[in-house]
Formats: sequence, structure tokens, C-alpha cells
Amino acid sequence: MKMETKCIHSGYEPKNGEPRALPIYQSTTFKYDKTADIGALFDLSASGYFYSRIGNPTVDAVEKKIADMEGGVGALCTTSGQAANLLAVLNLCSAGDSIVAVSEIYGGTINLFAVTLKRLGIECHFVRNDADEEEIQAAVKPNTRLIFGETLANPAMCVFDIEKFAGVAHKNGLPLIIDNTFATPVLCRPIEFGADIVTHSTTKYMDGHALQVGGVIVDSGKFPWDNGKFPELTAPDESYHGVEYVRDFGAAAYITKARVQLMRDFGVYPGAINAFLLNLGLETLAVRMERYCSNAETVAKYLLTSDMVESVSYPSLPGDKYYALAQKYLPKGSSGVMSLVIKGGKDAAVKFMDSLKLASNEVHVADIRTCVLHPASETHRQLNDEQLTAAGIHPSMVRLSVGLENVDDIIADVEQALKAAK
Ligand SMILES: *Cc1c(COP(=O)(O)O)cnc(C)c1O
Repeated sequence: MKMETKCIHSGYEPKNGEPRALPIYQSTTFKYDKTADIGALFDLSASGYFYSRIGNPTVDAVEKKIADMEGGVGALCTTSGQAANLLAVLNLCSAGDSIVAVSEIYGGTINLFAVTLKRLGIECHFVRNDADEEEIQAAVKPNTRLIFGETLANPAMCVFDIEKFAGVAHKNGLPLIIDNTFATPVLCRPIEFGADIVTHSTTKYMDGHALQVGGVIVDSGKFPWDNGKFPELTAPDESYHGVEYVRDFGAAAYITKARVQLMRDFGVYPGAINAFLLNLGLETLAVRMERYCSNAETVAKYLLTSDMVESVSYPSLPGDKYYALAQKYLPKGSSGVMSLVIKGGKDAAVKFMDSLKLASNEVHVADIRTCVLHPASETHRQLNDEQLTAAGIHPSMVRLSVGLENVDDIIADVEQALKAAK
């Protein structure tokens, strides 16, 4: 099936006489005839639902859909994108380990990796998105467990060279984890380029309607966990009477461990109603992404003609620093998000934002409604100047998330706000 069809049909196939739309199984628990049936579920010797902290039929259908869209063997939904990235890392790391991550990634992830993981004894070595292979290799230590990047960095809008990072990761026997939030599988399928694990904040384009926060982890099923470096996936798990994930679950070892061990213990699983709403967003994702990209390209081209705009970062624009990488990894477009630097410094940027009438000033991105945000004073205000520069954030940078309104109306609004900021 092609992507448009997967968006609509994957994950849920009603049998004769069953509901056409995905049902909301709003139940914490599931009834069984025999104690032994439930015992087998706890032992992982049988599959089925028993408690909605680690599995629920509505959420499961959405997980299967997203796994199919990304080309993975399985997926695990979480209550936020933050939870997805946290569990994706903790599934492989313990105190004393380290990870390598790109410094231009989302501010919330930088904070999670640089501050909170450090408190848990896991160190993060940051490398530039544009680092060459030697630089990436130098950040890899004997205790490194994984490399982490973002397909399209929020909000710097740099394109991640998946094959370059995958090459270094695999040479060292390490998996590459990619946060594919802005691209979505409609614009890029990182597994096809060598990513081993893919994460998302489903809060963004996947939900698309600003309804609910959520996340997901997708397992490619391709990483050789039995390469001697990942005993937690090959040795017996005593919390499950000696289950060995690779032996017992094969290609789905990583995602099974994340669910039965980490989701069991951390309990960040979404409710059925949330999965139902996410599914509505997914059903139209392929169609929406196409329009986001075409609207954004038109708006970016318009911005380049304005004397109030110092620069525009939109990788699909010829002349953009990441144009060549975008052509390779994001040939259908680089989402609806762009970052622009307004002339006149921070004050002019704020004046521009406050003068917008159609576009809203809000802490969100990747919504059907056009919206703007000032990273330096909002989402990234917890970062120091050095981290801001490393994350590619200029003090007067505005992140513009172009929505699905008519593009003429979006441009008219931007035009009047740019005049007002003069
Ligand atoms: C928003 C975002 C996150 C965090 O997701 P939440 O759903 O807000 O927890 C992680 N990564 C990227 C790229 C994001 O844009």
C-alpha cells in the first residue's frame, strides 16, 4: 500500500459486522475466564491485553498504523514526545553510559539529555549537525550506547544527514535513533536511510489539530542487538522470569522490552480516547503534509522578497544551506515550518509577532492554523547563550508554522505585520 492508503487503512481491519471506524476501548482492564490465562499474559508466553498501562486495543491499532507508515516492525505510543525520547534512550542506557546527540535538536530534548539524564548518570556528548565523520567518531566513547538526531531540527530547520550518522553509528555497533517529528513518514522514512529507531512527538503534524500531546517510538527491527554490546536485550530479564528479548521476540526485541519493562514501570501510556483522536489526525496526514509544504514554499518565497527579512531557513528553497540534503531526504518538501530572522533585532521580531492577526502567537507548531513563536524568549528560554547558538537560534529568530489556510490570506497577514514592525 502507498502512504495515503496506509494513513487510512493500516492498523485496523474490521471483520464481518464490526464497526467501520476504530472503536474507543475505554477500559482499564480486560476479562478472562481462567486465572491461568492472565498468568500466561504476565509471563509473556501469550499475547493479549490485560491492563491499559501497557496495552489497549485502540492504542494498539494506532501503533500498528504508525509502525506501518514508518516501515518498522512495531511501535509504542507514549503520553508525550518527551516520554518517547526518554524511553527510547532508557531502553538502552543505565547510569555510567553515554550517548551522542546533535546539538541543534529540540530544546526540550537538549534539556532532557543535558540536565535530567545527567542526574541519572547518563552523559550526553553533543556534536554539530554539520559535523564530519571524524568529529562524530571522536564523540563516541567506549560507554556510548546510541547516536541521536532529528530529521528536521526544531526550530533551526537543519536537515540531518541520516546516512552519514548511520554510517558512524553502525561502524561502532551502535543504533541510530531519529526524532522524525517535523518530517513525518509522509515526507521522510528514516529507516530507509539507516535509522534503527524512530521517535515522534505526535502532538505536532500527526495529531495536527492542536488537540492532545503524545509521542511514539518505532522499531525498525533491523538492528543486530546480539552484537555483544547490548546484554540487556540478550541476557535473561529477571523481572520476567528470564525472558530473553532477542531470543524470544526476534526483530521486535527492542520495542517489546520498551513496552513490557519500561512502560510497565514508568506508566506513560496514552488513553484510548487520545489514540482515537490521534488516528483521526493520521487519516488525513498524507493529504495535509502536501498542502503544508506547498503553502510554506509559497510563503518562504514571498518572505525572501521582503526588505524586513534578513534570512529565511526553509530547506526546500533553492539556495538554502540544506537544499541538497533536503532534495535527498525530503524531496516532497520540508514541512510547513520555517525560521526567519527579522531585521531590526529582537524588538522588531516581537513587534512582527504581536502585529499578526490571522496567525496566532502560541506555544505550538505544526498545526492546521498558522502560528508563530519566538524561541529565544519562549521554548528555548531555559538554554544559555552558548546552547542557543549551538542550537542554531538567533535572538530575533521567529519560527513560523504555516497552516492550511488559503496561502493568500497567510501572506497578506505576514505582509501587514512586517510593515507594522518597520
Ligand atoms: C515538540 C517536540 C518534542 C516534544 O514533544 P511533546 O509532545 O511536546 O512532549 C520532541 N521533539 C520534537 C522535534 C518536537 O518538536
